[in-house]
Amino acid sequence: MSKAKFEIKRKCEICGKIFMAATLESRYCSRRCTNIAYKRRKVEKAEQERLQKIAESVPDARDYITVPEAVAMFNVSRGTIYRLIREGSIAAINVGQRLTRISKSTCIALFSSRNFTPPKVDLGDGIYNMNPDHCYTIGEISKKFDIDDSTVWAHIRKYSIPTRQIGNYVYAPKSEIDKLYSILS
Ligand SMILES: [Zn+2]
Repeated sequence: MSKAKFEIKRKCEICGKIFMAATLESRYCSRRCTNIAYKRRKVEKAEQERLQKIAESVPDARDYITVPEAVAMFNVSRGTIYRLIREGSIAAINVGQRLTRISKSTCIALFSSRNFTPPKVDLGDGIYNMNPDHCYTIGEISKKFDIDDSTVWAHIRKYSIPTRQIGNYVYAPKSEIDKLYSILS
């Protein structure tokens, strides 16, 4: 890493302190903040992996899911889910004491209309072209592969396909979708 020719003032991403960046890549003011950032990334990665495992374990055919499964599949908090249940936006049934089940298709309809990021986008494996020219809309996928929208959404969540919302449309990269359905079909 080469030293910057000019002094660069940066705001530390951890503590917010303004510091002189030694290199163009410097993001933290001190070794201490660098370590905190590293630990946070590790914890976040482990948490995403845990959620991914839960999301993948939900069979496509099952509509009633638990709250922890909904948290994992839709990347929303337990608090949000319970609030939506209280407000009546998500129908819930109680199977025995403390065992709440909610409708997966309702969640798909609800959360797919929002601008939210999927649980995991694996940027390590490749860079996706999210330009609309290189993407399908959910409707296009459904038409091309002859599957309904909610199944498309379930697959997008389950296989962590990156999405991007522009206006009313949600886009997913053609390369990933074509690959997915060549495997699934
Ligand atoms: Zn700092």
